[in-house]
Amino acid sequence: MAFLEFIRLDERSVIEYVKGVPELKLKLKLELDDDKKVTVKEIGDGNLNFVFLVSNSGASLIIKQSLPYIRCIGESWPLTKDRAYFEAMALEEQGRLTPHHVPQLYHFDPTMSLIAMRYLQPPHIILRKGLIAGIQYPLLARHIAHFMANNLFFTSLLFHSTLDHKRQVAKFCGNAALCRHTEQVVFSDPYQISEYNHWTSPYLDPDAEALRQDNLLKLEIALLKSKFSEQAQALIHGDLHTSSVMVTPQSTQVIDPEFAFYGPMGFDVGAFLGNLMLAFFAQDGLVDQPDDRKAYKEWILQTIEDTWNLFYNNFVALWDEHRNGAGEAYLPAIYNNPEVQLLAQKRYMTELFHDSVGFGAAKMIRRIVGVVHVEDFESITDSVKRATCERKALNLAKMLLKDRRKFESIAEIVSAIRQF
Ligand code: ADP
Ligand code: MG
Ligand code: MG
Repeated sequence: MAFLEFIRLDERSVIEYVKGVPELKLKLKLELDDDKKVTVKEIGDGNLNFVFLVSNSGASLIIKQSLPYIRCIGESWPLTKDRAYFEAMALEEQGRLTPHHVPQLYHFDPTMSLIAMRYLQPPHIILRKGLIAGIQYPLLARHIAHFMANNLFFTSLLFHSTLDHKRQVAKFCGNAALCRHTEQVVFSDPYQISEYNHWTSPYLDPDAEALRQDNLLKLEIALLKSKFSEQAQALIHGDLHTSSVMVTPQSTQVIDPEFAFYGPMGFDVGAFLGNLMLAFFAQDGLVDQPDDRKAYKEWILQTIEDTWNLFYNNFVALWDEHRNGAGEAYLPAIYNNPEVQLLAQKRYMTELFHDSVGFGAAKMIRRIVGVVHVEDFESITDSVKRATCERKALNLAKMLLKDRRKFESIAEIVSAIRQF
């Protein structure tokens, strides 16, 4: 059966769908009418889309379909299903630049708003779940730093010619509805009364109110919103939190780039670091005695520090390597001596650092008072305990958002985290 117009797939029709696509049939080793042993399971635990695991005698693949609304809210919050197209394009680009850290894209169907990709088999789990369980991932920082440095550097004007850059920006600028969604949930709603906002009430009622009264915070979030909406710095993932990463101790895979567009690099770096900070502050609520996760909290802090430092080193090394390439940001004829090159690099990386800290803080705030929260805190059943953890994270985030320019290194950020 061919699918000539959009229909919402279910566990039964997914099999019909797969049978109609030769390359997917091949992947599943599915011969004609031999679908008796095919199993389908809807495994989507994300907020937006439906994800089916399709298996046939040892072979598996993932089908992800976008509906014209947000899964976790329902039809009352419409969202274009074109997001599948941007996810497919981003998976392809990230797969090209960092093939070891992205599931391979098998198939994209614009009519069905659907992508098929490699199944990341167990023991891969969602990183957030690993962080809640207290599992250490010794290669995580190195892998994510590599993913971010390569994807951000090679899609920036440091590598692209101006014409190439503009062409790439144009390819992704249609993802406007998802950018607007981010603007609303990250940069607007936490700072105003919104029917979607919620928090651990009544304990955090004064904290939520304080956000809406904080003029300095409002000025800072406006600067970040402006960067997010106006700066086409690189192809960013756009949703790089710890539920968009699947891990084993040996492997790190980044999924779910449906929010991808040309935006500020710091939004990705900050999303990842900010979510590690949320995981850090949740730890005390996840166990009976705070000391139970002492060593694990140290590992999270070390991972925050290593991620930034390795990212920095990788990014700068790529810049040095491609200094005389096609990139038009710093023309060799102008930046023609080691002193000015060093100064330019230092300034660029300092701004990126401050952007990352600011965006990370904004992402933390929205997960505590905004529409969608994180399992790290939500799985703390005692609401007094949860509110205590959340308040520490919120207070750190507010301070980082306002004072980020005072910090010169990630080590200083880690010291600040320890003080909350
Ligand atoms: P959403 O856009 O709705 O957040 P995700 O792409 O994050 O959807 O996928 C939702 C869930 O489906 C993930 O949390 C993960 O458990 C599972 N999943 C998605 N892609 C894969 C994959 N390639 N391999 C294994 N599991 C996957
Ligand atoms: Mg997701
Ligand atoms: Mg998603």
